[in-house]
Amino acid sequence: MNSAPPKIHSAKTRYLVAMLVLAGAAGAAVVYCFNPSTCGFYPVCQFHRLTGLNCPGCGMTRALHALLHGNFSAAWRDNALLLGGAGVLAVRGVWYGWQKVPARAGAKFFPKIFLWLLLAIVLTFTVLRNLPAGAFLSP
Ligand SMILES: [Zn+2]
Repeated sequence: MNSAPPKIHSAKTRYLVAMLVLAGAAGAAVVYCFNPSTCGFYPVCQFHRLTGLNCPGCGMTRALHALLHGNFSAAWRDNALLLGGAGVLAVRGVWYGWQKVPARAGAKFFPKIFLWLLLAIVLTFTVLRNLPAGAFLSP
């Protein structure tokens, strides 16, 4: 009988996750230090430039800058999806981490229904922020 704990993640997966976390931290440090509203080196949204419409990511960098500085109202004003998404991810991360290790081994961080729900929210947010009634969601 094998009593060894189940292997949850391979070394390759842990390495990739560590690289993603490091890249995210480095990107967040740049956004924290350089205000996207005043620094011109950030990329411009090509969807907005070509269509004049706001994509789900429009205002995301400014919202991240505001969020990293603790300005939640500005973050909400620039991109409500970032603030809402960060909250959902935080709750999901705590819930995922709270589960016992053997039960977690086969569990996915994002079940399929969650991904479909996320897609529906992003599409609804995109449509709403481009309608006159949803102008409060525009950056
Ligand atoms: Zn955009």
